[in-house]
Amino acid sequence: MSTTFNTTNVASPIESEVRSYSRIWPEVFERAKGSAVWSDKREFLDFFSAAGSLNYGHNDPDAQAALTDYIGRDGILQALDMQTVQRQQFLSALEARILQPRQLHGYRVMFTGPTGTNAIEAALKCARLSTGRTEVVSFLRGFHGVSLGSLSASSNASKRRAAGVPLRDVSRFPFDIERLSARESIEWFERIHFRGRPSSEFPACVLMELVQGEGGVNVAGMDWAQGIAATCRRYDVPLVVDEIQTGCGRTGPFFAFEDYEVKPDIIAVSKSLSGLGLPLSVVLLRPDLDMTTPGQHNGTFRGNNAAFVTATTCLEKFWTDDKLSQQTRRKSDMVHSILADAGVSDTYAVRGRGLVIGIDVASGALARRAAELCFERGLLVETAGTDDQVVKLLPPLTTSDSDLARGVEVVAEILLDLR
Ligand code: PLP
Repeated sequence: MSTTFNTTNVASPIESEVRSYSRIWPEVFERAKGSAVWSDKREFLDFFSAAGSLNYGHNDPDAQAALTDYIGRDGILQALDMQTVQRQQFLSALEARILQPRQLHGYRVMFTGPTGTNAIEAALKCARLSTGRTEVVSFLRGFHGVSLGSLSASSNASKRRAAGVPLRDVSRFPFDIERLSARESIEWFERIHFRGRPSSEFPACVLMELVQGEGGVNVAGMDWAQGIAATCRRYDVPLVVDEIQTGCGRTGPFFAFEDYEVKPDIIAVSKSLSGLGLPLSVVLLRPDLDMTTPGQHNGTFRGNNAAFVTATTCLEKFWTDDKLSQQTRRKSDMVHSILADAGVSDTYAVRGRGLVIGIDVASGALARRAAELCFERGLLVETAGTDDQVVKLLPPLTTSDSDLARGVEVVAEILLDLR
């Protein structure tokens, strides 16, 4: 979601100026498999994964086969929130493969509109309705989407400016990369938002990413994240964890919060949930935070049965054991070793968890130039951070070791040449 783009234009003249990725990657794409994407001219290695919505790579063969079969059988594709066999199968798989093994048994699953921002809107609404309070606390450099509720909680300046109305009812607290120790930061967090206030003035919820993706791959420290969670628990304020980008194994475990040993009250999941890039979002929440009136929140596209089919296939394929998590951790170590051996880690700040890796080059112009040179050499990587100063790697978790090494070596060479 980088904010500054070159002017190369491969788009139709009738398309809005708001398009962005088609400017940084001026090619016309048509086919993709695994970690490879082909335009009408050439092949690219994809270290972007559609902004983290293709953790299992493009066109996973099992998800693809399940979908092809389903469509061939005239399976119902759109069913709003009517019960379907596919919805029930997805819910069973989600419960068996994800909720139960993670002590989230009993959490409700709310289907929201199909995008990440839809899930965040629903999560915030649930927190506000159940507590009867309005203020949300989110974190500087966080990103949660661009509809008004989620945008209010987001930090991206250009997107906030585009709102056209005041963005209200959210206070943003510094994330754990500021100069304070975890203890000091938590102390301020408690003082500003809780201590001395009547409970009616507590926040409705605290909304956080444990690894800020768009904000520049900022990884919350263990003590800090646990301190935030403990403070929320002490004051009985719901903790909402945005797992839209970090979920489905991106940082290693299915949810990033598992490594932190915190238990959120509400979890927003989207991006890679369908496994095939089909839009699908859910909010997982403690039953007492659920909405109580049928239809109080709705949306036409809450019954994407094609996405239920592929999501079920991918949950059963990748999450019956912890093989994928272990592989992701191993691949993460491999990426960090390549960057360290090449000297990148001595030159720039390398951050990340699992296979979300950020190389902070301290200059937006430099990071954008690096991404441009990667593109010229057939590699898709994006930039992130408040100044676009972070080269961000989001390869599919299923990328082979050799492709992973090849792509990281290209990034390393380019960054060292630009130094
Ligand atoms: N939350 C996080 C952490 C994200 O990274 C994003 C998108 O990048 C969103 C929410 C919004 O998701 P969507 O673009 O599907 O609305």
